[in-house]
Amino acid sequence: MTPSIDLTVRSPPPKTTLHCLSCGHESAVDGDWTVRADGERVAYECPDCGSTITTRPRGVTSTTDGEGSLTFGQSD
Ligand SMILES: [Zn+2]
Repeated sequence: MTPSIDLTVRSPPPKTTLHCLSCGHESAVDGDWTVRADGERVAYECPDCGSTITTRPRGVTSTTDGEGSLTFGQSD
């Protein structure tokens, strides 16, 4: 008897992985893609064949370095 145990474990990658449809290059979003700022968008290009993988809108980065809270101990 042969037990047929089909374990289909789907483990999602920790980061979003981009695939190049032209040459099959595979890397994370912040991997070795050639990131080129194109106006309001950022284009991700394949370092191997140079095709544009995807474009993302710019200005996602927010510079909020926390709120500085000054506490003055004023006593009359
Ligand atoms: Zn490619």
